[in-house]
Amino acid sequence: MIARVTRKPRKKRIVILGGGFGGVYAAMQLEKLLARENAVEVCLVSRDNFFLFTPMLHEIAASDLEITNIVNPLRSPRLPATNRL
Ligand SMILES: Cc1cc2nc3c(=O)[nH]c(=O)nc-3n(C[C@H](O)[C@H](O)[C@H](O)COP(=O)(O)OP(=O)(O)OC[C@H]3O[C@@H](n4cnc5c(N)ncnc54)[C@H](O)[C@@H]3O)c2cc1C
Repeated sequence: MIARVTRKPRKKRIVILGGGFGGVYAAMQLEKLLARENAVEVCLVSRDNFFLFTPMLHEIAASDLEITNIVNPLRSPRLPATNRL
């Protein structure tokens, strides 16, 4: 008997390297553009699980702000659930 194996077509995966400004904004924009596209998955790869808002870094050095004010987790509800980190 010959067994016939039928495979589900794999989702296309877009892999974004780096969770900085470029990576996070690319992921957010692609998620918006591909929101109804079930065959595509957006995957963000980053060394750190946080996004650092560098333009306000000097205010941390000057003790005007706490570091928690400019650091946000990448696995946050603000990034759509289909993102993988
Ligand atoms: C103090 C400071 C103030 C700034 N102020 C401004 C400003 O006012 N206006 C402005 O336009 N620009 C400003 N910049 C510049 C701005 O931060 C950068 O231009 C911008 O962050 C570059 O974005 P990027 O996505 O290319 O890189 P980054 O934001 O540096 O992101 C790179 C990401 O890749 C990840 N990564 C690196 N190597 C690996 C690896 N091997 N594996 C996995 N992940 C990895 C890092 O963890 C990081 O998340 C400032 C920079 C600094 C340092």
